[in-house]
Amino acid sequence: MTESAGRATVIVIPQPTLNGPLHVGHLSGPFIAADIAARAARGRGERVFTLAGVDVHPNFVMSKAENRGVEVHQMVADYRSQIKVAFDLARIGCDTFLDPEQPDFEQAINLMLNQMLDAGSLEMREMVLHRCADCGRTLHHAYVVGKCPSCGSGANGLSCEPCGGFTSAATLVQPSCARCGGDPTPMVATVAVLRLENHRDQLIAEWTRAELPPRVRSVVAQYLTAPLPDYPVAYPTDWGIEGTGALSGLRIDFPAELGLSYLYGPAHALDPAAAGLTGWVEAWQQHFSGLWHFNGIDNAFYFAVLYPAVFAAAGVGRPTMRGATVNELFLLEGLKFSSSRNHALWANEFLAAEDAELVRLFLSWHRPDRYETNFTDEAFRAFSDYVRPLLAGSAAGAGLPVQLAAGELERAEQSLRLVSLDPAMALRCLLAALSAGQGRDSVALAALTGR
Ligand SMILES: [Zn+2]
Ligand SMILES: [Zn+2]
Repeated sequence: MTESAGRATVIVIPQPTLNGPLHVGHLSGPFIAADIAARAARGRGERVFTLAGVDVHPNFVMSKAENRGVEVHQMVADYRSQIKVAFDLARIGCDTFLDPEQPDFEQAINLMLNQMLDAGSLEMREMVLHRCADCGRTLHHAYVVGKCPSCGSGANGLSCEPCGGFTSAATLVQPSCARCGGDPTPMVATVAVLRLENHRDQLIAEWTRAELPPRVRSVVAQYLTAPLPDYPVAYPTDWGIEGTGALSGLRIDFPAELGLSYLYGPAHALDPAAAGLTGWVEAWQQHFSGLWHFNGIDNAFYFAVLYPAVFAAAGVGRPTMRGATVNELFLLEGLKFSSSRNHALWANEFLAAEDAELVRLFLSWHRPDRYETNFTDEAFRAFSDYVRPLLAGSAAGAGLPVQLAAGELERAEQSLRLVSLDPAMALRCLLAALSAGQGRDSVALAALTGR
């Protein structure tokens, strides 16, 4: 990072869940766009800090291992290495890479939660959860399915993909066990709870000032009138970081872990001597101005409600969410990517076989930002044939009049700002400039290709 004035913005490259390798649809969403935005910001001399990692603790991981009949830790190791290969080949860089299986990381998360309990910003109390009447699993996240209470779509116990709303075993309509089909039965458990309602004022300050797309605004707007849920951050289940201290016997909720990772990860990276909740909060406040999330719309509740509340409960006394860039779905030859149906183009394999620059550029060209877009091999081949000579400089003079090139380059670079980031626009402007023989040393070309 450069030592220019001001604190850095943390760009969050979301940690992929280790229940499969990355496919090209993932790359087209948050991953390449976050890297492009970070490179462009650095090219303008702005301070950014990129955080990446992997996500081991959603019970989607355990479910996948059970479905495949493989040992879960071996499966996690295999997917982790495939994802790291994909990141490297796609030139997705980061300032810190969080591995949640490292003992230091697990200890830090446990320490922060225990200190938040001591400070009274979390409370231990009895809460009604649900478990499966047949298999006994605690029904949360991947273990429960039902219908979204807001839009009626099929959803799991994490969020509703079509509307982005929050879901849980308690809020889903007609919930059942996703593992065995059993009925939910209530159980009273002593759990650690974050009362989101306690942070309403700060959340409203966050929502007022953050640069949020309209679809994210519609998810948070419902909470202007509806009560914010009491959110359990540790509870009895069979997957997740094992709690210590006051949390012994419980597992830590993975979105709560993610929220804390955005505090601990950057703070620890820039100030390794800082320790404990107070130390990490001070280091974070000293070095960072806020967070910018890249994510799918289905995670809107988590990055726009839960994570800011986690920061507030941890003691960061100012709004931290600068904004979010979201994406819609990317289809493969007209159908949803599906690892269970093996309808996928794996990122590590595709990038190993193709020119990474052309892959980055094509996924920017067709980025599913405003609407669902579709990958076809035919379009990728046609795009590659069109763009290769422009990148090589051998097509100059065939296109845009040279007098218009500077304007196109200006628009390309303006389209790579975090606020209203538009890689598809930036690329079209850049290609026009290249066709006039300009732009081969531009920030836009370097950011889009990852050179
Ligand atoms: Zn069950
Ligand atoms: Zn919904």
